[in-house]
Amino acid sequence: MAKKPKTIQEYFDQSLIYDNGKLIAPMTETHCHLDMLKDVNLDELQNELESLGISRIITIATSNKNFSRVQEIQNSFPNTYFTLGTHPHEAKDFHENDLSHIREVAKSDSSKLVAVGEIGLDYYYDFSPREKQIEVFKKYLELSIELNLPVVIHTRDADEDMAQILKEYGPQMPKKGVVHSFSSGLELGALAAKLGFFLGFNGMITFKNADLVRQAVNQTPINQILVETDSPFLTPHPFRGQQNTPTYIPLVMEKIAEIKNIPLRECMASIEKNATKCFFS
Ligand SMILES: [Zn+2]
Repeated sequence: MAKKPKTIQEYFDQSLIYDNGKLIAPMTETHCHLDMLKDVNLDELQNELESLGISRIITIATSNKNFSRVQEIQNSFPNTYFTLGTHPHEAKDFHENDLSHIREVAKSDSSKLVAVGEIGLDYYYDFSPREKQIEVFKKYLELSIELNLPVVIHTRDADEDMAQILKEYGPQMPKKGVVHSFSSGLELGALAAKLGFFLGFNGMITFKNADLVRQAVNQTPINQILVETDSPFLTPHPFRGQQNTPTYIPLVMEKIAEIKNIPLRECMASIEKNATKCFFS
């Protein structure tokens, strides 16, 4: 790069991932929270993403509090798909009704509900009691088996319990899914990949202090990697401090290609195929 770009447009103008106003290959944004973006006009954002060549966007629910908003958003945009689930932070507010709601949606609108999630364990914040997190996580894994849907897993500082649960449930799950925003230990990464899960990486891999996450990229087979932004969080370098949006996803893709030392086009084709395999087949 010639000089440090100040805007995403300046960045694209200098980047090989962008040509003639468009990405050189289509990309799927596999994890964002469109309902949490502040001061963003979603119609304008969708137009921008479409003209950029972002082929599909998956917006992720985190609890019964945002189910209806997430469903409303995916309804307004043909390229936007969605998930429903209870984030471990919100496990304390989980209701059995959440499961029946998801069953209903899966029956009525199965085409755009692409996964159960996000669900999992977060022992870093411990916003919900750990026992409750485990109980709710297992209920959702059972639901994913029942509905034949993949899962979107969040895990932080919970490697031991997560490994145990994945070993127990993984082999029974017809669709597997993704361990998103992967930032756990290399051992858990290797186990998840061995069980057939994808690993999702985001702007974190561009952070200076994230060598361990880059090692996880390095050890994960290219046919099990997904890219995401997790917007509005985790804005990639050099735009940290600004709100993240799916527009920034090419920075994550470029970094994966660089870490794995694979030509950009080849990397994009593999990862796009992975997104199809994980969520759309
Ligand atoms: Zn998320």
